[in-house]
Amino acid sequence: MGSVKKGLVQVYTGNGKGKTTAALGQALRAIGHGWRVYMVQFMKGSREYGELMAARHLPGFTIVQSGLPTFVRKGSPGEEDVRLAREGMRLAREAITGGQYELVILDEINVAVDYGLVPLEEVLELVRLKPPHVNVILTGRYAPPALAAEADLVSEVLEIKHHYHQGVQAQAGIEY
Ligand code: ATP
Ligand code: MG
Repeated sequence: MGSVKKGLVQVYTGNGKGKTTAALGQALRAIGHGWRVYMVQFMKGSREYGELMAARHLPGFTIVQSGLPTFVRKGSPGEEDVRLAREGMRLAREAITGGQYELVILDEINVAVDYGLVPLEEVLELVRLKPPHVNVILTGRYAPPALAAEADLVSEVLEIKHHYHQGVQAQAGIEY
């Protein structure tokens, strides 16, 4: 089991590519030190994600998805989208407070808040009740300022160029 000196709250936000993959990179590094890592992927529900397949080969790395494979309608999310996001928050809370994990990643939680699937207050509460040794990473565009204020680290990925604008569609191994 790994040891944690001071559990940090990290936020990866911004409009460029690299937030979820940065969190996965941090997970890989932590697992190398024997940490146990739990990732909840909000608003994602596809078995095609490479990280899901890779995590099975890595001891101590659990990834769960708490979304549908379809896009959420902004402003009018479906009942199932809301139910799954709530379930994701329940799992996240268990993982953060349960003492089983050194690192807990809430992937796309910022987007889930922005889309009205999860109340911001609940996310802030979760961060505040984090035991001192637990690390938490929150990813997604539009990180709310109140969350940034609670965090120890906030990194913004800025899009300078993206291949999408040249018409290159999402590819296995790159986007998922
Ligand atoms: P990654 O998962 O590759 O690290 P990310 O988490 O930073 O990316 P998200 O905002 O979660 O990015 O978007 C998910 C996917 O959408 C990314 O893999 C990315 O390639 C793609 N994407 C990011 N920015 C754009 C954009 N401006 N237009 C179209 N697609 C984009
Ligand atoms: Mg992402």
